[in-house]
Amino acid sequence: MQTLNRRKFLSLTAAAAGAAALPPQSRAVGARVVVLGGGFGGASVARYLRMWNPGVAVTLVEPNATHVSCILSNLVVTGLLSMNRINLSYTALRNNRGVQVVQGRALGIDTGGNRVTVSTANGNVTLGYDHLVVAPGIDFVPPPGNWNPSLTPHAWQAGPQTTLLRNQLATLGNNDRFVMTIPKSPYRCPPGPYERACMVADYLKRKGRTGATVTVLDANPSIQAEPEAFTRAFNVTHAGRILYVPNAVVQSVDSASRSIVTSAMSVSNAKVLNIIPAHRAGAIGASLGVNAGGFVPVDPLTYAVSGVANVHVIGDACAVPASDGKAVPKSGHMANSEAKVCADAILRALNGEQPDTNIATSSACYSPITSRSASWLSANFIYGDIYDANGGIKGKGMHRVDLGEAPAGEVNQDSYQDMFTWADSLFYDSFA
Ligand SMILES: Cc1cc2nc3c(=O)[nH]c(=O)nc-3n(C[C@H](O)[C@H](O)[C@H](O)COP(=O)(O)OP(=O)(O)OC[C@H]3O[C@@H](n4cnc5c(N)ncnc54)[C@H](O)[C@@H]3O)c2cc1C
Repeated sequence: MQTLNRRKFLSLTAAAAGAAALPPQSRAVGARVVVLGGGFGGASVARYLRMWNPGVAVTLVEPNATHVSCILSNLVVTGLLSMNRINLSYTALRNNRGVQVVQGRALGIDTGGNRVTVSTANGNVTLGYDHLVVAPGIDFVPPPGNWNPSLTPHAWQAGPQTTLLRNQLATLGNNDRFVMTIPKSPYRCPPGPYERACMVADYLKRKGRTGATVTVLDANPSIQAEPEAFTRAFNVTHAGRILYVPNAVVQSVDSASRSIVTSAMSVSNAKVLNIIPAHRAGAIGASLGVNAGGFVPVDPLTYAVSGVANVHVIGDACAVPASDGKAVPKSGHMANSEAKVCADAILRALNGEQPDTNIATSSACYSPITSRSASWLSANFIYGDIYDANGGIKGKGMHRVDLGEAPAGEVNQDSYQDMFTWADSLFYDSFA
């Protein structure tokens, strides 16, 4: 595995983001862009469209009054941060960028008529568009059995679920068991579940809960991100606290008794059962057509869906092919990066220009391992040919140009501090 020095990684990801950020001089004054979903993808695309061309009217549709960030949310679950710290307002987008924010939920898209129906507190409204950006994040595929997220939360969409898991964690006593599941890849934030296991183990230690443990039931055959750092975290830093079980595909969940059967292990009456189910594209995105994995295939130059040049899907809901056969990772940083490429492509299209082919996207995740130390991971991509196993060109997509991650020995307090700098930069670049 190629590793990078952390400082080098920070400068590389900044450079990659910048490579996508070359606005065209659009003359598309008066054009209407509607954005569905005000998470990292939707907020960023609204922000950049208005920054790059204030003549374009941008309407952002989002059911919630504010966005609660998943990023840093494991620190809220474990009592190190307050909910306020991850609560992101739309006020700056509205006041500073001139984005019209409509509180409502998109019900349906009429791609032929270029309009979308939105449910609001005052009834349904229809919004017409020249371009539509759909960024609804994820929905869950319920596991077999009687899964009730009010009893056995996912806390994989931040907000009330974060509070619920935090409150349940607080009830854990000595010798109690926290059990969590990890779905098969791809899921949002590849290191996120392993980070959660570490943070819960750290919480139990900090609170002096003797004998209390974390059981990680992973549907994947191995740790999906930063294997070196997390293997060390599980076996050394949190030794005796975390039981990691690979190939644990969920067969049945009973939320009432907090019991679970998997292909590798069954647990009855866990004190806390944190079910993170498999993901698919958020429903309004999925209505545009999905691949076998449940995500919306897009052209990585424009994020347009197949056959509809003015409808784009970005963020966790989309599927972007990558050169290593895996999809581009689903992260807030990547959603922000895709938003810039998409905004640029929309402004070029409105201006009668072709999309830029010289594009790059990037992703970063910082993972707290304890309440004082963190790990990090980056992935950077440039657009180009995608090769098959025999070296033949099988299409166009995003090339993984480097993969940097913290060596196990670089899981430290310095990275823990950098995590907040990085997160605040991303929050600003998406919502301010
Ligand atoms: C514990 C955890 C830690 C993480 N850590 C990191 C990290 O370190 N780095 C990183 O980059 N990423 C991290 N992530 C991943 C990151 O949070 C997601 O990848 C990111 O939120 C995806 O952005 P998005 O805009 O696609 O979706 P979201 O942020 O989920 O936003 C989607 C929005 O669409 C809205 N919506 C849904 N349906 C509709 C509809 N019909 N009409 C209108 N609006 C709708 C939703 O209300 C929501 O606000 C983490 C995730 C978790 C769970």
